[in-house]
Amino acid sequence: MIRINDIMDKVAEYFAGDNADIIERAYVYSARVHDGQVRLSGEPYLSHPLEVAGILADMKLDPVSIAAGLLHDVVEDTHASAEEIESIFGPEVRHIVMGVTKLSAMPVSSAQARQAENIRQMILAMADDIRVILIKLADRLHNMRTLQFHVPRKQKVIAQETLDIYAAIAARLGIYWIKSELEEGAFRYINTESYEKIIGLVAKNKTERDKFIKKVKALIEEKMIAEGLECEVIGRYKSNYSIYQKMLQQNLAFEEVYDIIAFRIILDTIPQCYEVLGIIHSMWKPIAKKFKDYIGVPKPNMYQSLHTTVIGPMGERVEIQIRTKEMDRVAQSGIAAHWSYKEGRQVDENVSSTYAWIQNLVENQENFHDPDEFMENVRIDLFPDEVYVFTPQGEIKSLPKGATPVDFAFMIHTEVGNQCTGAKVNGRMVPLKYELVTGDIVEIITSKNHNPSKDWLNFVKTVKARSRIRQWIKTQDKERSLSLGREMCEKAFRKYRMNFNTFLKSDEVGEIVAEFGFKTAEDLIASIGYGKITPLQIIRRFAAKAGEEENKESIFTKIVGQVRKKRPKAGVMVKGIDDILVRFGKCCQPVPGDAITGYITRGYGVTVHRSNCVNALKMNPERQIDVDWNRETKESYPVKIRVRSYDRVGLLADIASTISQKGANILSAETTTRESKVVDSYFTIVVADTDQLNETLTAIKKINLVQEVHRLRR
Ligand code: MN
Repeated sequence: MIRINDIMDKVAEYFAGDNADIIERAYVYSARVHDGQVRLSGEPYLSHPLEVAGILADMKLDPVSIAAGLLHDVVEDTHASAEEIESIFGPEVRHIVMGVTKLSAMPVSSAQARQAENIRQMILAMADDIRVILIKLADRLHNMRTLQFHVPRKQKVIAQETLDIYAAIAARLGIYWIKSELEEGAFRYINTESYEKIIGLVAKNKTERDKFIKKVKALIEEKMIAEGLECEVIGRYKSNYSIYQKMLQQNLAFEEVYDIIAFRIILDTIPQCYEVLGIIHSMWKPIAKKFKDYIGVPKPNMYQSLHTTVIGPMGERVEIQIRTKEMDRVAQSGIAAHWSYKEGRQVDENVSSTYAWIQNLVENQENFHDPDEFMENVRIDLFPDEVYVFTPQGEIKSLPKGATPVDFAFMIHTEVGNQCTGAKVNGRMVPLKYELVTGDIVEIITSKNHNPSKDWLNFVKTVKARSRIRQWIKTQDKERSLSLGREMCEKAFRKYRMNFNTFLKSDEVGEIVAEFGFKTAEDLIASIGYGKITPLQIIRRFAAKAGEEENKESIFTKIVGQVRKKRPKAGVMVKGIDDILVRFGKCCQPVPGDAITGYITRGYGVTVHRSNCVNALKMNPERQIDVDWNRETKESYPVKIRVRSYDRVGLLADIASTISQKGANILSAETTTRESKVVDSYFTIVVADTDQLNETLTAIKKINLVQEVHRLRR
């Protein structure tokens, strides 16, 4: 177990500032609150934060990071509170410790491998201080080093999570030594059989291989000395996990994996690197497609090096990396290299802002061949436009920044969104417009009878939520318009003695719908409800169609025909106006066949008079309108007549029977006796037109003792 003094010594090697005492204070505090706790290994719990702090010191991190490392488990595992940490160690330590605590509280282990990328992004997004992630990696590294104390089932779960999440994060941040150790440890527990097989196979020819390493190393060194280049040559075995990966990817048997040894040449300057590359290629034949210039084109995480593979002295493939000391340092510690202390000199406080290293990357952007791709990488890694939240089942959902529980609900399912009435975040009720934060556990409360609200459009962020809400509103509006349109149509059709439902079943409907530019009759009816077209427009089209097919018995004529029997259509056509109320002047009682004229009256439609009616002649000519008899209608009109005759028995009966013989009806009759036995009889009879009237009058004249018959003006 590492001791605090060992850590202080490590820090003293690179840190010359005077606030290193925060480490000792953190140690004392951590020891006090963890007192009595024991790890599975049987060691005091304190050994764990100490080891973590030791790893952070190896990464040459600042004293605040190391203090936070010593305290990383106290809030989660002891009675210590965030407030207490802040009062003793300040807001920075509190912020980092709480960041680590939050990450530990995430239910990541329940997630499956397909979620791995989301989880990685979420972890990077959640840690607004990169030191949180560095501590988390150190924490995981030590947990992996002590994994043997867990039961096998737990070992596998932790190892898989380590491989999927933490090794990948270490790789992304360019901290290769952590990546490699995490992978190696995970591999050992996940696939123990393969791991041991590879160990055995590597060990088998170890003496021979060690000789090979020595030989190649000597050859390179000799050549470099001859060229006057000072360098360090390292020959090493590749990791078991990377050998295993290579076997899997290329489907190779172990014997076929040649390049299990790699060499690294470390120099002072970049020109020397290219010079050495040339020398190596002159010594051994390079495999062209294996050459990679990561100096000219660094990886997004700042990794720089020249990679080449050559056919070595014994005909074997030899992989060689060439880089400067500085590049080697970055390659080993990645992002931590930008965070750590250089040669005992403290990084400028301002520069050490959270993403100082990214600043560095952005400034060097011109060095990248594909700046878009580079920016995309950086953005995804550490400037996410996304938030990552959990379902109550621990599934991760990624949403745009500013997304609300409503967005989340629609992402789960349209139905959930539509019926969403409220939301709980981390167990507490929140308003629907609450902005989700990475790490939130979101639970949506639904109710069957609940519907989306127009107001939601003011705060939702996802396209899906927006379009689903709009769609719902549209459907609502359409339903309303549809029922209104239907009502209007039924009314209008009734007015014309037609049945709207019969119309809907007719053959003409499809054509009319298309002529108005709609796909379905529903759309047409809804547009009437919206007020875009009127029912009368439809009736006209329908009537026109029925007219075209006059000879056939179209449904229109059928409907209209039936209706006519019931109650005849208006007997007068008013030019240019279809649907207008027509009344007849009581003064002149026009009958079809009479010359007529119409007058527009205020509020009562058109009144029809005979052209020679005195009342008509008195009317304002500006209100006059041309009208004509509709010959198709079989309406009857009242006419008052006077029959003058000598009185005799049975006269009235004779007149009445004559009238009815001519098909006219008598509405009223009245008789007055004048002097000299002359009788005036007044009848109001109902006739269809002037022809019928004239025939009737002529017939009456022929009756015995009838003197004269007159149609009365009034
Ligand atoms: Mn821990």
